[in-house]
Amino acid sequence: AAKADGRRTRRLFEPAMDAALQGRRSLERDLRAAMAAEALEVHYQPLVDARSLAVTGCEALLRWRHPERGFVSPADFIPVAEETGLIAPLGEWVLARACREAAAWPRPVRIAVNLSPAQFRTPDLVGTVARALAESGLDPVRLELEITEQVMLEESAANIAVLHRLRGLGVRIAIDDFGTGYASLSYLRAFPFDKIKIDRSFTAALGHEAAALAVVQAVIGLGASLGITTVAEGVETEAQLSVLRRSGCDEVQGFLFSRPVPAADLRALVAASAGPWMAAAA
Ligand code: C2E
Ligand code: MG
Ligand code: MG
Ligand code: MG
Repeated sequence: AAKADGRRTRRLFEPAMDAALQGRRSLERDLRAAMAAEALEVHYQPLVDARSLAVTGCEALLRWRHPERGFVSPADFIPVAEETGLIAPLGEWVLARACREAAAWPRPVRIAVNLSPAQFRTPDLVGTVARALAESGLDPVRLELEITEQVMLEESAANIAVLHRLRGLGVRIAIDDFGTGYASLSYLRAFPFDKIKIDRSFTAALGHEAAALAVVQAVIGLGASLGITTVAEGVETEAQLSVLRRSGCDEVQGFLFSRPVPAADLRALVAASAGPWMAAAA
């Protein structure tokens, strides 16, 4: 019976698994080609001071324009890059590009770069970051590295050592998508993060879920007493902004202010003393 079941399972799932595997392989092939052909670019989304609404920095977000598939979301290709080891050269490229572009901006705002869990396991991450800083001439205090709770979940002792070495370079560490992983509070004890980015699912629920507001306010309070900057991700409405401001959130990021934009557009936003959203949202 077990054998028959096994056969049946294989018949049912094999074609689907093959298709998924082939999809991953062709995605990997295309991604390698894209890196070679410079079909990748970095877009930037402003981070805004919740009180003054001035741009305090921006987050680098990878973009891939695929000739047939059109725009491919990083959410789709980062996992493939992680599985195949492509994440190391890809991550290095993003870091170098973001540091170089940020070094030339008209004001010394911060630049945040995402690091995936697999990038954390690459042996020379600290060297890669040091090189990106040296080659761009970017002041290390302007670089912020965003990691997820997932990173802290794996091999936490080794990862905490890497975080300390990164911090030794003078860069800041932010914990991304906060509240979506596990055991978040123990990480705050284990490592002194500079910034907490509250996941956008909490921001989205602010207007209609009392529990979401309670959690957000507790995290903001925790940040304030630990000396950690708090940021709300995914701010899309004036109502969300005003709740976050009243709750004492330090920074906000979201479509209400700007979508991720090409480097030249971000440069203009940084150069302007006031964002186009200020008149509307102040
Ligand atoms: P993330 O680091 O949490 O980045 C924020 C994501 O939320 C971005 O999606 C951004 O476009 C989106 N977002 C920003 N504001 C709003 C809003 O108001 N509403 C909504 N609905 N979405 C908003 P994106 O660019 O598609 O990136 C998805 C994820 O891919 C990122 O999540 C990050 O984990 C990963 N990623 C992006 N670029 C890189 C990279 O260069 N390296 C690594 N390792 N991961 C990256
Ligand atoms: Mg991020
Ligand atoms: Mg995030
Ligand atoms: Mg997120």
